[in-house]
Amino acid sequence: MTALTAAPGAASRQPRLRVVPSAYRASAPIRKRLVFGSPKSYFFGMPKNLVRGGAVLAAVALLSGCAGGAAPQDDDRPVVLTTFTVLADIARNVAGEHLSVESITKVGAEIHGYEPTPGDIRRAADADLILDNGLNLEAWFAQFVDSVDVPHVVVSEGVEPIDIAGDAYAGKPNPHAWMSPVNVQVYVDNMVEAFSELDPEHADDFAANGEAYAQQLQAVQDELVDALAPLPENERALVTCEGAFSYLARDAGLTEAYIWPVNAEQQATPQQIAAAIEFVEENGVRAVFCESTVSDKPMQQVVEATGAAFGGTLYVDSLSEPEGPVPTYLHLIRHDASLIVEGLTG
Ligand SMILES: [Zn+2]
Repeated sequence: MTALTAAPGAASRQPRLRVVPSAYRASAPIRKRLVFGSPKSYFFGMPKNLVRGGAVLAAVALLSGCAGGAAPQDDDRPVVLTTFTVLADIARNVAGEHLSVESITKVGAEIHGYEPTPGDIRRAADADLILDNGLNLEAWFAQFVDSVDVPHVVVSEGVEPIDIAGDAYAGKPNPHAWMSPVNVQVYVDNMVEAFSELDPEHADDFAANGEAYAQQLQAVQDELVDALAPLPENERALVTCEGAFSYLARDAGLTEAYIWPVNAEQQATPQQIAAAIEFVEENGVRAVFCESTVSDKPMQQVVEATGAAFGGTLYVDSLSEPEGPVPTYLHLIRHDASLIVEGLTG
């Protein structure tokens, strides 16, 4: 296996995007019953006295974004194979028309516990470049990526990881780094470098595409921050099924709470659900959410028990079909931010 670009320079690269200005943070007094505090994430399997947190977030509107079209199967462009649809969309924005970008998993797939097929392995062997997220997202992919002689780049290289809260995951990074447009700038830089090595003739185009996309990432980041700015400190709680929002919460000053840490272990226990109910009741959380790739039944139990609203389906691990609400990554962030703001301010 060939190491394309990856590591060395990446670690020192800093995202160019602006993270949330601390000045926007609301000054409203925190209600006594609010248990948010320092760790900005709360896993319902944790002892209650560890529950603390920070703030919440959210955001906003407008559709824009560009979807890379589906690539014809019989063209002679180099093939870039990604592990899931979100990465594929980001990669298409950088690749433009020069590369054929594909995703191994389909829209709606559960990507943490995916089981690759023999066909997937053939596609990997036939690709010219493989991109995966890393941060332990695609354990299933590692099983065979080393067996094919294709350059392989981990696009999260250089992102500062946030560890998952919860005993079983102590010290392990939260894989959902793409939920921060700031982090995606690093993904884009890694892609520009990898694509330029794969197809040097079009290096200038990849760099220009990366710059243009970076501006869109900045715009969506600004929208996110602006939309959440009016939320008072004591309403900045984002309660979801999976703990996928650590990076977005960090950027936007939210406290996240979730039923299970990662979808690979999505069996909600009665204890976790009871803890979620208690959290919502104690903090007067107005709305709770669940992700598109899992069942929302456990969260519906929380809704029934507490009277909180079900704020809707958030997208994280997969885009929607082209005609759905989140055909691109930029749509995904805007969609989620908009639902969160509506739910928490409703
Ligand atoms: Zn996930």
